[in-house]
Amino acid sequence: MHHAPEVLKKEGHKLTPQRLMIWHILQAGRHLSAEDIHQEIEKKFPGIDLTTVYRTLELLVRLELVQESRFPVGPHQYEATDKLGHSHIICRKCGRVHHFDVADLLAAANRICENQDFSCADVELNISSVCNDCLKKDRS
Ligand SMILES: [Zn+2]
Ligand SMILES: [Zn+2]
Repeated sequence: MHHAPEVLKKEGHKLTPQRLMIWHILQAGRHLSAEDIHQEIEKKFPGIDLTTVYRTLELLVRLELVQESRFPVGPHQYEATDKLGHSHIICRKCGRVHHFDVADLLAAANRICENQDFSCADVELNISSVCNDCLKKDRS
């Protein structure tokens, strides 16, 4: 696992309490929007503005400590990850998110890249779907 405080220091960024707090919130392993994070951080730092949260997230994304994903519904989601480019299946009804292994996709992407004279593929895919629980609910 990447360690944000060390990386931030090494890259010459200040370890502000807000930055550490945002990193800490993301350690819970959830997918959160900037607004979610803002709401949580406000409990500890009342009056912190959303722009600060966005700027901090941008920095963490740039340092590859946090992955930003665009899901088929809702705002961008952020998560702490040591493996960027991982992929999601998202339920359109309940918002449940699952990760899946992209090994097969990567192999296919690499083949496509080779054929087109490109190298080193990275795959990130967010699939919009409906989970079985929601399908069952619809039927009953
Ligand atoms: Zn669902
Ligand atoms: Zn994820």
